[in-house]
Amino acid sequence: MSDITTDKDIQDNSRMKKKGMLAVISGFSGAGKGTLMKKLMDNYDNYSLSISATTRAPRPGERDGVDYFFVTRERFLEMIKNDELLEYAQYVDNYYGTPKAYVEAEMKKGKDVILEIEIQGALKIRAKYPESVLIFITTPTAEELKKRLMHRGTESEEVIKRRLERAALEAVGVEAYDYILVNDDLDKTVKHLNYLIQDQHMRASQQLEFLEQFQKELRTVL
Ligand code: 5GP
Repeated sequence: MSDITTDKDIQDNSRMKKKGMLAVISGFSGAGKGTLMKKLMDNYDNYSLSISATTRAPRPGERDGVDYFFVTRERFLEMIKNDELLEYAQYVDNYYGTPKAYVEAEMKKGKDVILEIEIQGALKIRAKYPESVLIFITTPTAEELKKRLMHRGTESEEVIKRRLERAALEAVGVEAYDYILVNDDLDKTVKHLNYLIQDQHMRASQQLEFLEQFQKELRTVL
């Protein structure tokens, strides 16, 4: 990576074809995923962020169709029945799921689609799309996590407690992820996240067309 001086260098570097892929981002509640995702979308134009459906009530400032599709439990169950979801999971009393149509359309356009989802959903995506990349975001320490959740001020003490309990459970499954990113400096973390995702396009298994073309060329220059 020593030649890379700007983010643009890693995106314009070759004749390699880029197929849209899935990047799954998870992390403990309060690890700063939301801000990180916003910055990733603002800084780079090759990503599409999937908007999930949820039965949870909107937090102050959250908008339907922007932060989530806020739906009733009945509508969510209908989405499951109609096979409209790529994956779904239950998290602290509510359902969350990824609408399938948008993700598939964006990948077809060559976009890398970001799914900001919890661990059960992440593992389902890994099983369906083995070439996806799974990245887990965490704070440096558990104490910092608690501090950030309390400062957010959007959840009751009871919900914060349950989210920390959930974090303790999820911490056990994190080794299934490909990478762990410690979010201690937003600008640095967003750059690193972009590198990690873009590096996946350079896996040899993702570049079979390029390799085939190169083999043909080799025969012509012999
Ligand atoms: P929050 O209520 O804080 O917005 O989200 C709670 C958890 O649900 C977070 O860990 C978030 O990543 C996860 N989540 C959001 N959307 C989805 C989804 O579509 N599927 C799954 N499996 N988890 C989701």
